[in-house]
Amino acid sequence: MSDLPGIVVTGASGRMGQMLIRLIQDSDSARLVGAIEREGHAWIGRDLGEEMGGAANGVIVTADPLEAFAGAQAVIDFTAPEATLAFAKIAAQARLTHVIGTTGMSADHIAALAPCARHAVIVRAGNMSLGVNLLTQLTKKVAAALDTDWDIEVIEAHHNKKVDAPSGTALMLGEAAAQGRGITLADNRESGRDGITGARAKGAIGFSAIRGGDIVGEHDVLFAGQGERIVLRHVATDRAIFARGALKAALWGQDKAPGEYDMLDVLGL
Ligand code: NAP
Repeated sequence: MSDLPGIVVTGASGRMGQMLIRLIQDSDSARLVGAIEREGHAWIGRDLGEEMGGAANGVIVTADPLEAFAGAQAVIDFTAPEATLAFAKIAAQARLTHVIGTTGMSADHIAALAPCARHAVIVRAGNMSLGVNLLTQLTKKVAAALDTDWDIEVIEAHHNKKVDAPSGTALMLGEAAAQGRGITLADNRESGRDGITGARAKGAIGFSAIRGGDIVGEHDVLFAGQGERIVLRHVATDRAIFARGALKAALWGQDKAPGEYDMLDVLGL
């Protein structure tokens, strides 16, 4: 039996789930020990490798986190907010590192993670890529250097299956801009403009979302002044960047004290 950290992937049939499974199977630093799908899913009780169209890998897909988490060291979770909360409670009981990539979590969902983080490591980020996490730091710096004569807008584009808007990444960037400016995002956020909206509020941080085709994820932070503009841009062309970040987080969490962390902690930024 290998002593590499054992990892469970939730939402195994999803876009990120399948990407993570392939990455972990090819990894020299972790092993795949479990895969979870929701009750009633066609993959339950079947061999994961075969369901993904390859050779059998001996991992039987289950809907039961208790069964999947036994003997694991970490769970990587890119599913949906309610599912993530349920997984967090069980991961905390089992003292597993819980890497949360799920976006669209409300303030109540996030608050409900705090008790879990007293018992286990939680790493949560709306974007697990090195590039975007670096971009948050640049955004904070630029926002700190400019006054409110510069309007800040976050513009994001994603594939047509995405269910939440603005994206978790857009919110991370908006949060970074707000921190740089010394304001709170919640009190200064402007999104979903439509119809006679009135003039833009001075100092607001605006959000716009584009949805179409198979766009993996594009984010611009626009600083619009009088007669000049600055645009900070990140373009993701491959979901593997998120999967690599998530696996890095799962391994990083192995020797950390219980608590809530993000990718800036993992990447040391
Ligand atoms: P997806 O293809 O729809 O996959 C989601 C998976 O989760 C599906 O297999 C879904 O099963 C499963 N699921 C949902 N509820 C579940 C439950 N209660 N129990 C078990 N499985 C459940 O979506 P995706 O593109 O992979 O994205 C998933 C999440 O990750 C989204 O919130 C997305 O925004 C986020 N994301 C984050 C990052 C990041 O870097 N943080 C990057 C990319 C995506 P069904 O098909 O049966 O519903």
